[in-house]
Amino acid sequence: MTLVKKEVEGLLKRLGASACGNLAVHTPIDGSQIGSVSIASPADIESSIAASHDVFLEWRTVPAPRRGELVRLFGNALRDHKDSLARLVTIDCGKPLSEGLGEVQEMIDICDFAVGLSRQLHGLTIASERPGHRMMEQWHPLGPTLVISAFNFPVAVWAWNAALALVCGNSVIWKPSEKTPLTALAVQAIFEQAVRAFGDAPEHLSQVVQGGRDVGATLVADPRIALISATGSTAMGRTVGQVAAGRFARSILELGGNNAAIISDKADVALALRGVLFSAFGTTGQRCTSLRRLFVHDSLYDSFVPALKAAAASMPIGDPLDSAHLAGPLIDEAALTAMQAALEEAKALGGILSGGERLPGNGVYVRPAVVEMAAQVGPVLRETFAPILYVMRYTDLDAAIALQNAVGAGLSSSIFSTDVRECERFLSASGSDCGIANVNIGTSGAEIGGAFGGEKETGGGRESGSDAWKAYMRRATNTINYSNELPLAQGVTFDL
Ligand code: NAD
Repeated sequence: MTLVKKEVEGLLKRLGASACGNLAVHTPIDGSQIGSVSIASPADIESSIAASHDVFLEWRTVPAPRRGELVRLFGNALRDHKDSLARLVTIDCGKPLSEGLGEVQEMIDICDFAVGLSRQLHGLTIASERPGHRMMEQWHPLGPTLVISAFNFPVAVWAWNAALALVCGNSVIWKPSEKTPLTALAVQAIFEQAVRAFGDAPEHLSQVVQGGRDVGATLVADPRIALISATGSTAMGRTVGQVAAGRFARSILELGGNNAAIISDKADVALALRGVLFSAFGTTGQRCTSLRRLFVHDSLYDSFVPALKAAAASMPIGDPLDSAHLAGPLIDEAALTAMQAALEEAKALGGILSGGERLPGNGVYVRPAVVEMAAQVGPVLRETFAPILYVMRYTDLDAAIALQNAVGAGLSSSIFSTDVRECERFLSASGSDCGIANVNIGTSGAEIGGAFGGEKETGGGRESGSDAWKAYMRRATNTINYSNELPLAQGVTFDL
């Protein structure tokens, strides 16, 4: 038995979870098998949905601040298990331990946010045009919420959704990525600790249903699922979005990104370089917000790009459990194949490649790739989920912004500039068309307080902070007549 497998078994045992079943789970750290989980059968899926539907009918009547108490307890349980869960995140998906810890911290942060929210699910009071009448809005629980998550944020994405869904009065079903199913088992065990501490929470409030796209598709199609929050590739979202729309279900789609940054001639260059390195090559380029395209002002290009290449070439890469390494492995061999195909295509289009080679050892470790491109063509126009940064020159800011916007995805973007006019231009209605537009920070590493999501082929969904909670509830408009008359709106008469 490998050391990693032993550690996983120990971690799961301490959490009261066990991993056995018909789907083998491998760690990208060295490719070894670390456990297995049970893929849900059609009968399992049916009973999970039925239970989720029943429990929703009960949970929706529990006062929202009391629902918040469960999420508060869950946040505390996560604090107790932060180190163990973070190690498991790193083992399951291969991100460095500091990012595993950050991901669990993000879960704790969204729990805190949701607890506050549980006392602030406010509706409006609206002036009625009719005498003796009052109008108001109420926000009511929506129904069973399905969370489909991707491998690269195996726990935080679920928490963004589940914490909000639970305080909003919904039940939750989680279909984690088949590439990272162990962390879901651990989170479920921690959640059940919170349920026990809460005392009278109904059973099956949050359930995990394991499996691949077939299992996901069965869940998406079921009319008892009121809301589908799906995170993953644009290809997945295109299918899921259509099925959801076909039965008028609510959906939150959080899909692929092809994120860009602009390095102005007025940038703080040292800061820009650091920002670019983390965004492009941190997490091995496997964030939806990873930086993939860079527009560098012509006057800086010949000094900035060599410095970028040198920094990328010297980045320590290896076992993500070792804090000396800033990036771990790609998730699997298929990710490497996609990376190599994109690099070959870029070279055939005249791209000048530096880096990108596979590093020796078990697990799929690669050197980050910087590709100088004369134009935005071929693979530059799409997301390849790997550490590839395409670099292009620009002279005119408006042209650079237009190029930045000229791709299918619309998730994240940034400008590095100390010129307030340039920055405001970038943030304006005619600037970046993305859901996230930053100034003097990279494209990745969002905080939970803002609404997270992107436009166009990124799916248009928003989750996490701000008023994203409204997607998890249904709005009812109420008109109350406290007079003895029955006036109709717009002066309409109907007198018998
Ligand atoms: P993926 O699309 O292969 O899988 C994501 C999830 O969708 C998995 O749980 C998978 O089983 C499920 N799935 C796939 N097809 C399905 C179908 N037809 N019906 C129901 N479920 C289905 O993505 P991945 O490789 O795990 O993750 C990488 C992708 O996710 C990238 O494109 C990345 O940009 C994106 N992503 C987006 C965000 C965001 O918030 N916008 C966050 C993280 C990852």
